[in-house]
Amino acid sequence: MRGVAEITALVKEAAAEAGFDLAGVAPVRAFSELEHFSEWIAAGRAGEMKYMEARDEAGHLKRASMRSAAPWARSVVVCAINYNTAEAYSTEVQDPERGWISRYAWSREDYHEAVMRRLRVVEGKLLNACRQRGQDAPATAGGTPALQTRCYVDTGPIVERVYAKYAGIGWIGKNTCILNQKLGSWLFLGVILTSLELEPDLPAPDRCGSCTRCIDACPTDALIAPYQLDSNKCISYLTIEKRGVISEEMREGMGRQVFGCDICQDVCPWNRKAPATTAPEFQPREGLVNPALAWLAEMKAEEFGTKFRGSPLRRTKLSGLRRNAVIAMGNSGDQRFREPLRKLSEDEDALVAEHARWAARKLNS
Ligand code: SF4
Ligand code: SF4
Repeated sequence: MRGVAEITALVKEAAAEAGFDLAGVAPVRAFSELEHFSEWIAAGRAGEMKYMEARDEAGHLKRASMRSAAPWARSVVVCAINYNTAEAYSTEVQDPERGWISRYAWSREDYHEAVMRRLRVVEGKLLNACRQRGQDAPATAGGTPALQTRCYVDTGPIVERVYAKYAGIGWIGKNTCILNQKLGSWLFLGVILTSLELEPDLPAPDRCGSCTRCIDACPTDALIAPYQLDSNKCISYLTIEKRGVISEEMREGMGRQVFGCDICQDVCPWNRKAPATTAPEFQPREGLVNPALAWLAEMKAEEFGTKFRGSPLRRTKLSGLRRNAVIAMGNSGDQRFREPLRKLSEDEDALVAEHARWAARKLNS
């Protein structure tokens, strides 16, 4: 039977072979960050993201512990893959006719699928190695297999970045993103929960030091303190998760961000030398880097359906994307948008029309 160290090494080797840039193991514990997550939810910082607040039958937040979703889990294998590309950062592009879609959403293939495919390869090798060595013992009296695994990419009841920290992938920066000393923060994470007690890694040390660039650069003051994000103020939340009307007081700060926001990552010194990925799936789709605002604002359902098939942009739906684009037109200061905004103010989509009227007033002011 293989030792814990040997199986752990095999998992990391399998992750590298599957194309992951980093892999580590975190133990399952009641980490203090998970307690902070509960406090963050209680303070209403998750906005309308009700899925974050899902609770088990005993009333515990599902994301704050494995006790209900995977009580058998003893270790979490965290795999990370770089999605940075050679394109400029949002803070480097100035054309007022164009907006910004968050870097993670440019990819040709949906990252959930691209990461899950690799994760399944790692999981398969882990299971095979254990079976061959007799570690997949017969089912327990309760019928539960002795060796269990489960994979998640962004959709599980788990706060991935906390486990990423304890798996040594990186530290949680003051901008609340996972940061790796060599790769920066452009990382997709995938996790494999397992009932195996693998050899845990050490958490990565916090290297933010006295830097506050992300906090200073955030246009909406969403980083209310180091390591604390108020989603209600965050442009990523407003442009992707917020349904319906965006309050007028938040619109100006959104600038020309139309889907997500990269500003607090773009200014981070650890991203200055972040290498570009070679993964073909994460190369940008045509037109998504610094996209033309008028194109997005006037987009029809058919084009939205074909252009964004298998893309994270579908999450905001056509109406939400057009809403965001007209806000950006209002913030652009570009008088060439006057006429398009006048027409959009009468759009059959009432949400788009209302935001276009605000944008037209903003341009005229
Ligand atoms: S994503 Fe944008 S709005 Fe949100 S915290 Fe970062 S800089 Fe601020
Ligand atoms: S910008 Fe500075 S404070 Fe913010 S995450 Fe990067 S290193 Fe940390």
